[in-house]
Amino acid sequence: MKAILGGTFNPPHKGHIFAALKAADEIGITHVHLMPCKLAPHKSVGVSETHRVKMIELCAQTNERLIPELIELSLPSPSYTVKTLRALKEKSADTICFFIGADSLYNLDKWYEWEHLLDYCHLVVMRRDDEIFSPPPAVQTWLDCHVTREKRVIHEKPAGHVLLIDTPLYSVSSTEIRDVLSGIAKPAKADVLNRSSINGWLEEDVLKYINEHQLYKS
Ligand code: ATP
Repeated sequence: MKAILGGTFNPPHKGHIFAALKAADEIGITHVHLMPCKLAPHKSVGVSETHRVKMIELCAQTNERLIPELIELSLPSPSYTVKTLRALKEKSADTICFFIGADSLYNLDKWYEWEHLLDYCHLVVMRRDDEIFSPPPAVQTWLDCHVTREKRVIHEKPAGHVLLIDTPLYSVSSTEIRDVLSGIAKPAKADVLNRSSINGWLEEDVLKYINEHQLYKS
């Protein structure tokens, strides 16, 4: 079984890592693969693919449970999760647990061939905010057919289920971190980058890398 967290990781933060490892613990998986997607040039906010990969590698170097998975970067642009999952399945028949934050379900019906995602994987949904969970009707109807809270199901079946996991709430996003780094965010938010604070949301090596390369400066 292979656990994958796909994302932009622009930059990767501890919200990604804590939530994914907690979800992995809940379903009894040791490793989580961090899989960066390709970004359209207008969305790269000044940070190259090379930098995003390097920051993911730094996270993996400090935590042996994390593994970079770079397949999506070798596929044609733009990234489509369903095509990536298909490509992963061509490489290996392993069951895939694709981790996503609950916020992703709010626009899942805009994803390319979204109704085919479960042909290739189980979706493992991590908590993202305190809101009552209410995705759009098309997604809700689809969820009603596939959702489970039974963890054993994803070990018994090769694909086709959506597992909701009540991971703790890690209130941080890459946008918030970029805003602090570029000076857009209010000073109170600067706390998210305070390394000595328990609220420090960036891995120390990632923050060092960002500073060294002057990333996200406006
Ligand atoms: P941005 O703010 O740039 O949109 P992001 O912080 O949401 O970025 P992504 O790299 O886009 O990070 O997220 C990849 C996946 O990780 C998504 O499924 C997202 O919902 C999930 N995720 C990101 N941050 C958290 C978090 N703090 N807790 C749980 N899941 C998260």
